[in-house]
Amino acid sequence: MRIGIIDADLLYRKRHRFPNLACMKLSAYWKEQGFETELLLDYSQAGEYDRLYVSKVFTDTFVPEHILTRETTIYGGTGFFYDKAPVLPEAIEHHTPDYHLYDQMVKENSAGEKKKKEFQFYTDYSIGFLTRGCFRKCSFCVNKNSTGAVAASPLEEFYDPSRKKLCFLDDNFFACAEWEKIFSSVLETGRRFQFRQGLDLRIMQKRQMELLASGKLDNGMIFAFDHIKDQELIVRKLELLREVIPVSYQKVKLYVLCGYDWEGTWKADFWAKDIRDVFIRIKILMRYKCLAYLMRYAAWERAPEIYKGMYINLSRWCNQPAQYSKKSLREFCTGQGEYSSCFRYLTAFEALHPEMAHYLDMKYEEVQYGKIYG
Ligand code: SF4
Repeated sequence: MRIGIIDADLLYRKRHRFPNLACMKLSAYWKEQGFETELLLDYSQAGEYDRLYVSKVFTDTFVPEHILTRETTIYGGTGFFYDKAPVLPEAIEHHTPDYHLYDQMVKENSAGEKKKKEFQFYTDYSIGFLTRGCFRKCSFCVNKNSTGAVAASPLEEFYDPSRKKLCFLDDNFFACAEWEKIFSSVLETGRRFQFRQGLDLRIMQKRQMELLASGKLDNGMIFAFDHIKDQELIVRKLELLREVIPVSYQKVKLYVLCGYDWEGTWKADFWAKDIRDVFIRIKILMRYKCLAYLMRYAAWERAPEIYKGMYINLSRWCNQPAQYSKKSLREFCTGQGEYSSCFRYLTAFEALHPEMAHYLDMKYEEVQYGKIYG
C-alpha cells in the first residue's frame, strides 16, 4: 500500500516553516507497518496513492474539495475541526515522529546558510507535547473544551538525540501537576529547548522561573499577556521574574492578543478600547524590558480602516524587536515616509484619539519607572 501525506499548511502558506507533527507520526507508524509513505508537495499526484492523509493546523488554509471527497482520503487536525478535532489513535499519537518525512522538501529548498536556518524546525528539533490541555477555557482557544493540563508524551517518545534542540508544543506546561518530574527530564538532556506556544506566567512561582532560567533556553522566555484584566497579576509576576532573571536578559517576550472581544460583541467602540489596551500592555512590558509580540485575532480585519491600519502598524513595529527596542511607534511610522500608509494611519488615528497620543511616543529604552527601576 502506498500512503501519501499532505501537510496542507505547507502547500497553502508560502512562508509556513514548521513541520506537522501528526503527519510525521502517521508516516512513522505506517512505515513501521511495512508501507511506503511519501510527503506530497502539490495535489497533482493525489490520485496515485492507496490512502491519502491530509492534515492542517490553520483554519484558513485552503484544501481543494475534490481532495477531501476522495474515497481514499482521511483528513484531520485543528485546521479542519478546531476544538472538535478527533485525536489520533493511541498507537499513532504515541509513535516517535518520522523526522525524515520532510527531507526531500528541505533539500530542494534550503541551499545556503540563511535558508538552512529558515528550515531549522525540520532539521534541528525534536518536537512534541510533554503535556496537553489547559484549565483556563479561553473562549477563542482551541483548548476551550479542555479540562486541564495532563502529561502527554514522555520526552523519550519523541526525543531524537541526533537533533540538537527540543521544541515543545504544550498548551500550559506549568499547569500540569507533574511538571517538575517532566521538566527534570528536559534538563537532563542538556539540550536547548523552547516552549513554542508560550508559558502561563500568571500561575508561575519563583521556583518554576528559577528552574526555567537554569535550562538552556533556545529562544528566550515566551509568555502570554492576552487580557488587560490580568495586568496587576502580570506586573506582580514580572517583578518576580526580574528578581530571578536580570534586566540585562532581554529575551523575555509576551504575546499580546488583540482584535478579540472577550464579550463577543465587537461593538463600535471596541476597536479604540482594544488598541488602548494594547498600548497599556506594551507599556507594562517595556517597563520590565520585555518584548511584545502582537497576535491578531482574525476579527481585526473587520475593524474600520483607521483601526485596521493601526493593528498593522502595531504588529509591524512590535513584531520586529530591532524596531520596537529602538524606536517609538511614531518614529517607526515616520521612518516609513510621510506618504506611506503607515504614516497616514498613524496621523489619522492620532487626530481621532488625541487622548492616546502619548502612547505613540513611548520607547523601550525610556519607559523605566516600574518599582524595580526606582
Ligand atoms: S491559557 Fe492559553 S492555552 Fe489555555 S485556554 Fe487560554 S489561550 Fe488556550
